[in-house]
Amino acid sequence: MLREGVSGSFHDNRMYVGLKGGDTMVSKATICATGVEYARLNLPGEERFFHSGVYYGAGASEACFCSGKDIFIVGGGNMAGQAVSYFSGFARKVYMVIRRDNLSHTLSDYLVKRIKAIPNVEILYNSNVTELEGDNELRRIKITNSVDHTETWYDTCKLFICIGGDPNTEWAIANNIVRCPSGYLVTGSDLFSHAAYKNQWQLDRLSYHLETSRPGLFAAGDVRFNSVKRVASAVGEGAMAVTQVHQYLAAL
Ligand SMILES: Cc1cc2nc3c(=O)[nH]c(=O)nc-3n(C[C@H](O)[C@H](O)[C@H](O)COP(=O)(O)OP(=O)(O)OC[C@H]3O[C@@H](n4cnc5c(N)ncnc54)[C@H](O)[C@@H]3O)c2cc1C
Repeated sequence: MLREGVSGSFHDNRMYVGLKGGDTMVSKATICATGVEYARLNLPGEERFFHSGVYYGAGASEACFCSGKDIFIVGGGNMAGQAVSYFSGFARKVYMVIRRDNLSHTLSDYLVKRIKAIPNVEILYNSNVTELEGDNELRRIKITNSVDHTETWYDTCKLFICIGGDPNTEWAIANNIVRCPSGYLVTGSDLFSHAAYKNQWQLDRLSYHLETSRPGLFAAGDVRFNSVKRVASAVGEGAMAVTQVHQYLAAL
């Protein structure tokens, strides 16, 4: 069933997930695998060009549509770095737009070296995308340099925004489920140092590796604090979470 969950609450040893449209899903155990929602630039027109030139993250499936094009990837973290490296194999030129004056604060050393060695990659330092223009698709973007305040327009129909994201776990706050400061759900041994966990966990056993501070609620993949943000690990965690759900249910 593909439905959007819009609320979550716990009582009578059950989780109640409110679904968009009004239904409620009730379960003894739940796996939250809702990933991350990528951050926006909040520019005028950004919503209009979403999927018509503006993308959040840089899914590998988009790469073949970049053949022969000049594309822009915003962000200086590993997510952006991986995208720059991968898309440079398809695009004519990849511009990496970063706010800082160097990459080493935010990007793994191996990616800095790899990106700097790619001939069709240009890094625009101290730079921000400040305007978007187009018709039914993105046509050009303005880049403003924060040091010399120059403004330059570039023709492009592909802008990938890779500036991090929000795991959208606000529903967990009201349920006293332990999150990290960025909102990711904390599980397993990462919980042990949290005072809130020590105060509320009442079972004789400790939480399972993928179990949150709420017994029977598991987290897998990107939404989980300290997860390796990779497809293979998300899939692996999903499978592992199912096993832990079986363990949890068997012990009820
Ligand atoms: C630019 C970029 C490049 C990457 N490159 C690689 C790479 O080369 N190799 C690699 O292994 N990994 C890569 N990754 C990371 C990889 O994509 C993620 O780690 C992986 O997809 C995480 O899987 P997930 O299931 O946790 O989350 P997602 O794949 O994000 O899935 C979460 C799902 O939950 C749904 N959802 C969210 N909220 C709700 C709700 N309230 N109700 C119902 N459904 C909801 C979402 O719509 C989505 O379908 C890359 C990521 C990015 C952004």
